[in-house]
Amino acid sequence: MDISIVIPLFNEEESLVELYAWIDRVMQENKLSYEVIFINDGSTDRSWTIIEQLHAKHSNVKGIKFRRNYGKSPALFCGFEQAQGNVVITMDADLQDSPDEIPELYRMITQDQYDLVSGWKQKRYDPLSKTLPTKLFNATARKVSGIKNLHDFNCGLKAYRKDVVKNIEVYGEMHRYIPYLAKNAGFNRIGEKVVQHQARKFGNTKFGGWNRFVNGYLDLISLWFLSRFGIKPMHFFGLLGSLMFVVGFISVVIVGATKLYNMYNGMPYRLVTESPYFYLSLTAMIIGTQLFLTGFLGELISRNSPERNNYQIEKII
Ligand code: UDP
Ligand code: MG
Repeated sequence: MDISIVIPLFNEEESLVELYAWIDRVMQENKLSYEVIFINDGSTDRSWTIIEQLHAKHSNVKGIKFRRNYGKSPALFCGFEQAQGNVVITMDADLQDSPDEIPELYRMITQDQYDLVSGWKQKRYDPLSKTLPTKLFNATARKVSGIKNLHDFNCGLKAYRKDVVKNIEVYGEMHRYIPYLAKNAGFNRIGEKVVQHQARKFGNTKFGGWNRFVNGYLDLISLWFLSRFGIKPMHFFGLLGSLMFVVGFISVVIVGATKLYNMYNGMPYRLVTESPYFYLSLTAMIIGTQLFLTGFLGELISRNSPERNNYQIEKII
């Protein structure tokens, strides 16, 4: 099979039939074999009934139904697990992404040898409240992830080589950072294609609100931390802890030695507890020890984690 199209959806009943018809037309025209995997992420409308009807009529329509709403990332994860095509395309269900882009995306993966191609909604049809924060977000994501050639991390329309989706684990709200996940797993050929974007035809956006950005940034920090120190937490906490401890220790020695020196030389002296530096050093030493212990605990945890030897092996001969 050439292509698996993975479509997460949450209350998109009005779009599904039209979306499938459009996909089917494009795939027939380009003579590509394909499957469509709809992941119904706990919709409360008639979405699932419509998916069942499509499935009854067309054998290449598959569906996964979540018992409740988990979010876009878990939906993608389960879709990726099921996907059988050599190239996996993800797209939103709301008709904002155009299936006409699929053949070119497919070509970029199969012929230009990209591992992942992300859509770039150069011209967006979304309100300013959405596009402006997104610009900021993308700038940070580019910086942190080191993937400098992507303008639009969060575009729902993306194409992947099958290996990529089988070797990354999208969870939480990590769908915004799939290119970063892919890069961390060793897939370096990440490209971009300008794609058409439509205004939402039916319903409303499912990602409103400011907390999306706060959570987005927190996720980025966790990802950065995990990819740098995930399997060697001691390198982070140990270094910081030792530094603080050493600084604290040296300054407490200085405080004490100054007092003793002055005492024996008959100069006026203060009790060590009267010096603010004493307390600063004490705090530094305590925090240092704690960080160090945190590092040890982190090591113990990561040593027992089932992920500890989860390396990305591309091939075995
Ligand atoms: N979606 C989902 N689960 C959710 C929220 C959204 O599967 O909890 C789907 C939604 O149905 C759509 C896609 O994710 O197919 C993108 O959502 P939306 O169009 O609301 O996001 P926007 O385009 O406004 O960023
Ligand atoms: Mg949308």
